[in-house]
Amino acid sequence: MEKRRLALEGATVLTGPMWQPMPDSTVLVNGDLIAAVSHERGFPYPKGTRVIDCGGKFLTPGFIDMHTHCHTTAAVDFLSQFGPRIEGPQHRDWFLRLFVAHGVTTIRDVGNFPEIFDLRREFSENPSAPAMFVAGELLEGPEPLWPLSRKVNDAEAARREVRRQKELGADWVKLYTGLDHETAIAAIEEAHSLGIRAAGHVWKTTAREAARAGIDTLEHTLTLADEEFLTEEDRASLPGSADGKYRRDRFRYAWSKTNLESDAANDLVKALAASQTAVCPTLIVHENTILGPDVSYQNFAYDCVPQKWLDTWEGRLKLFKPPGETLPDPIGSFEKALNMVARLNSRGVRILGGTDAALWNPFVVPGASLHRELELLLAAGVDARDAFSSVTCWAAEALGVPSEIGTIEEGKVANLVLLDDNPLEAIRHTRGIELVINRGRASSPEEILESSELVD
Ligand SMILES: [Zn+2]
Repeated sequence: MEKRRLALEGATVLTGPMWQPMPDSTVLVNGDLIAAVSHERGFPYPKGTRVIDCGGKFLTPGFIDMHTHCHTTAAVDFLSQFGPRIEGPQHRDWFLRLFVAHGVTTIRDVGNFPEIFDLRREFSENPSAPAMFVAGELLEGPEPLWPLSRKVNDAEAARREVRRQKELGADWVKLYTGLDHETAIAAIEEAHSLGIRAAGHVWKTTAREAARAGIDTLEHTLTLADEEFLTEEDRASLPGSADGKYRRDRFRYAWSKTNLESDAANDLVKALAASQTAVCPTLIVHENTILGPDVSYQNFAYDCVPQKWLDTWEGRLKLFKPPGETLPDPIGSFEKALNMVARLNSRGVRILGGTDAALWNPFVVPGASLHRELELLLAAGVDARDAFSSVTCWAAEALGVPSEIGTIEEGKVANLVLLDDNPLEAIRHTRGIELVINRGRASSPEEILESSELVD
């Protein structure tokens, strides 16, 4: 088969971790890879090279969303409790396509039905789908919250389950809220001994304990705090139990009372820094479920979303924000989440860009949501360079593939985004995508979305 050759000529190249603009540069693509990055004009292109004039535009690495859950047919029954049935293979395709149309060329699927391994195989050569790193079903304690959980009741069961998932093709295992400490430690150890990584959305085992056990990433901001961040009085008034079915109410209530000046909060930063555990804050899913989706994000993101998804999200949102019931201090709770992220970033804890895009998470639109996540990272006080690193080079390091993706360098996979305006000057400029180059194939967002059967 003929190899694709592309010359992206005259762009300002922006790449991490320094993000020093390199004006008037040319990136040469050969097949799937970046063949050269040159700051000189007029070096000879091989015959058959398609030259794309990028003068006045900005070229960044393809974005990486570190927290997603792709749509699988196995999720249809579960989702139909909240809205119309989202049936048919076009929804799985559309979900993946939306990432690429928004410049997201790599995702980590951090917990799904076993079908995820087939989905990855099916789309591995598809130029309109992102590359995928995947975890299998959630490792969970005695009372699972989700249909995609596997109960593991002790250390031996956890080790067996990790081995089983590795056999299926998992790159990660996902530890969930009801796991006790001993079981979590065994899962992390087993994953590392098999050469795969561990991510945690933990609660019964605390984030601090999981960090000290060497977990690779911790997910979400609200679950980083444990009950020792509270006064004794507030702790005594928490609803439910740490592994029971009121877990969700319990930690939302706990978060509203969480004190970021407590000794426990300082200890969390120490534990994360010592273990080099990266944190994926998923601020947008917190924003959507605590405050409701941001209006400018809605205008940007909803155009290409099927009505059935919007209806399902409306139904799901009622679970997080029950009508007539006010959450304790929503504005303060969300500001505290931003504050937590700012503290971690300023103390050198690696922040990763992730959204929790899933058809069960209200209004977290695949791809588009990562642009809102970047805005929220900036709103928290993370500087633009670190925010861009969190969705490119830092994410690539967390995935264990820094020599393959995440920066614009010779020999890396040609995953690139061509922007009309400089995103370092205004973060909203990431929304102005002219072209996405996914494994060497260049398409406009419109082409990526038009080439599919439209879903409604
Ligand atoms: Zn998630």
